[in-house]
Amino acid sequence: MNYVAGEWEMRSDLNKTDPSKGWIIGQFPLSATEEMDKAIDSANEALKEWGNPNRWSWVKRAEVIDDLVQVVKHWQEQIAHLISTESGKHITEARAEVIEGIHMLQYCASRGRYPIGHKISSEIPDKDAETYLSPRGVCTVITPWNFPFAIPTWLIGPALVSGCPVIFKPSEETPFTGQFFVELFTRVAYKHKVPMGVLNLVHGLGNVGEYLVRHEGTTIQLFTGSYNVGSRIKQIAATHHDKLAICEMGGKNSVIVLEDADIELAVRAAVLSVFKTTHQRCVSADLIIVEESVEPEFTRRFLEMAKKIRFGDPFDQNVFAGPLINEKAVDKHLYNISKIAAEAEMLWQWPARPLCQKGNFVFPSVFRMKYGSDSFALREEFFTPVAVIVPVKDFEEALHVANDTEYGLSMALITEDYRKMREFKIRGKAGLKYVNLPSIGAEVHLPFGGMRRSGTGMPSAAWLFNYLSHETSFTVNYGAEIKMAQGLAVKV
Ligand code: NAD
Repeated sequence: MNYVAGEWEMRSDLNKTDPSKGWIIGQFPLSATEEMDKAIDSANEALKEWGNPNRWSWVKRAEVIDDLVQVVKHWQEQIAHLISTESGKHITEARAEVIEGIHMLQYCASRGRYPIGHKISSEIPDKDAETYLSPRGVCTVITPWNFPFAIPTWLIGPALVSGCPVIFKPSEETPFTGQFFVELFTRVAYKHKVPMGVLNLVHGLGNVGEYLVRHEGTTIQLFTGSYNVGSRIKQIAATHHDKLAICEMGGKNSVIVLEDADIELAVRAAVLSVFKTTHQRCVSADLIIVEESVEPEFTRRFLEMAKKIRFGDPFDQNVFAGPLINEKAVDKHLYNISKIAAEAEMLWQWPARPLCQKGNFVFPSVFRMKYGSDSFALREEFFTPVAVIVPVKDFEEALHVANDTEYGLSMALITEDYRKMREFKIRGKAGLKYVNLPSIGAEVHLPFGGMRRSGTGMPSAAWLFNYLSHETSFTVNYGAEIKMAQGLAVKV
């Protein structure tokens, strides 16, 4: 169902399949241009109220989100089941994702009571100068399938508290989690008399997202997803005088293991970085870069632990992770393996696909190869369960290999050497860096944003608040005559 201008509109244009069972679990609409126009018009109408400080203060908007937190908590388990059913994510991970969404909404609710401007001294004693925040405008929120609950809260929560109405297009792979989130919002919106059009939901494929981005009536484009789509959105936004694209995109992430590392910790960090969510996180590690002196032992123990992992029914407690999201992802996995096999030594591979099993299940693969800057393995984001172990001679080479990518999202270093930790902190080219941890594991009150191909330098989650308001300067003269800064003459 779409939710446009405060009304639900039911249509069943496209089937959604359960990725682990292979059966259809529901239908959703493909939005028509008239629906999107209506959603955009209603959001712009709502901006006049919701973004008007005479009608809605930051505190009042944040109180709506505070109530939303309570409603989400009530439906916590149902949301987790929905995530697992439509994305194939293991139920334990889905539960953690809902908690992450709750944390984000709690943070947003608290932001209503933060300062909303600065008092700044003027050069002229008679003048008072200050800044204040006003909403930048209507936002589109276009999200990927792999965090269908948490990522919408990262983007929609800050937008709404900042006074910006939203048109939300969830991924076509996870339409129902997004829809349920909007449904929960409507319950609290009704109680608080939130203007119609503050949050709209339009389902659809890429063309729906692109229509929203191109439309004159949308100002901020909040996108999370692949580099190809994000880069297209950035190009469209760049042709408009009043559009801003804030994009979080793919990654080519590494775990670096040094010779002084606690090998048990290194192996566990690497296994979690590679196989959690069946390697379908933007921060999943494609490369495990290991100092040569410990590489044979690390590899032996890594394979030992990895071979214990089971991919299967996301509701089975004995399973580590679920299926890939769709048939296209299965094809991508087979393609990844064939490309990497041509340039690297295969250390472990089952038959790529289990036979006689419904759903998009695959078996993982592990390779080993020397660094070669033009290789597929070191360039392309895998996003399927494949890892490449890269032996290197020392820390300097490890850092060089980890940095030698056009992406810049996440990196982890496993070492006990505090000087190398600091070098890694200074010279690692990524927006998220971890020491003695996996490359995954974000917390919402830290900035979440990639460098280079991975982002636009305006991180999501808590940091998004920095980009959703115009910070305006406001100066008043209390003197009887005009006095100008820099000694500018006023004689006419
Ligand atoms: P995707 O880019 O294929 O789709 C993301 C969203 O964009 C979907 O809602 C899709 O319908 C929409 N879309 C597609 N074409 C569009 C267009 N031309 N204009 C506007 N919208 C369009 O990504 P996905 O497969 O859903 O997710 C996987 C990708 O997302 C991976 O590359 C992963 O690394 C990345 N990701 C990044 C982050 C991050 O925070 N950096 C988080 C999660 C996922």
